[in-house]
Amino acid sequence: MARIRQLDPIVVTKIAAGEVIERPASVVKELLENSVDAGSTRIDIDLEQGGTELIRVVDDGGGIDSDDLPLAFISHATSKLTEADDLFRISTMGFRGEALASIGGVAQVTLQSRTPDRPSGAEIRCDGGELSPIRPWGGSSGTRIEVRHLFHNFPVRKKFLKSIATELGHVCETVTRLALANPGLHLVLRHNNKMVYEIPASASLPDRVALFFGGEVRDALYEVDSGEAPIRLTGFIADPKCDRGNPKLQYLFVNGRWFRDRSVGHALQEAYRGLLMTGRYAAGFLFLTVPPDQVDVNVHPTKAEVRFRENSLIYSLVRATIKTRLLKENLVPKLQVPA
Ligand code: ADP
Ligand code: MG
Repeated sequence: MARIRQLDPIVVTKIAAGEVIERPASVVKELLENSVDAGSTRIDIDLEQGGTELIRVVDDGGGIDSDDLPLAFISHATSKLTEADDLFRISTMGFRGEALASIGGVAQVTLQSRTPDRPSGAEIRCDGGELSPIRPWGGSSGTRIEVRHLFHNFPVRKKFLKSIATELGHVCETVTRLALANPGLHLVLRHNNKMVYEIPASASLPDRVALFFGGEVRDALYEVDSGEAPIRLTGFIADPKCDRGNPKLQYLFVNGRWFRDRSVGHALQEAYRGLLMTGRYAAGFLFLTVPPDQVDVNVHPTKAEVRFRENSLIYSLVRATIKTRLLKENLVPKLQVPA
């Protein structure tokens, strides 16, 4: 009979990392969320080989105090949550204190940071969960993170990585979601030293839509707003002529965070009922504002899914707001009147 043993901490970190870090895009997502939480106005992302060789994220946010630097890679260490109750009032993207620990467990990471109030910053490295001593760093205020050789010590994971083009595609999708959710944020993505996206801070949401999906989608947008209320829907939908054969132009955000939701997607489709052929999908960039205690963002390891307290209310609000807007454009299902 095998005896019960507690797992080695390094093994525990790898298991946890497996839940959060699946591929380069997961690293980019976690790093970008941290940069947004730090109040950055500009974020530069550099990749090599689809992010498998190098992911570098440089931000101009609030930085990390040198004394706190060793804590950044410790599991369940966070500056964003102090009590369990905070989980239900959370307004930042992070909160579990797990991302950097996970990334540090499965890659070679260099973290450099300086807070604006300090004359100089500091640097720490983490390789496979092993921390280096802290060294002074002379960079400008903000944070610079380099993640090299993802999964170098995790061959099973590495084997599951796809082609460079596919991994880059996933990163582009992550950057797109973040860029749509954060108008006002200057974002730069480069791959193997070539520019992929440069989104200036001044680009509005329609500008961002044009950048990612083309001017014809932007020119067919209708703004939606359900009006001032604790639960509110804002954003843009597109004319039915922008329909697609998949829901790829449906972007949902709750309280500034991208999420995946069958029910909200269905409500959007229902609003277009009669305007789209079967198998066609509407385009929508929808932003829900919901009081934090009415939405649980903690149900999914990568926070991709959420749970609403009043699911049916959200459903009706989305469907009704969009339907009303389409009616205003005189886009009503045409009755088939025989000639
Ligand atoms: P979480 O975001 O859930 O708190 P992370 O592991 O992602 O956990 O980050 C740990 C901590 O490191 C954060 O709480 C924050 O204090 C600090 N941190 C990480 N990245 C940055 C950054 N880009 N700018 C400032 N602080 C950061
Ligand atoms: Mg985080």
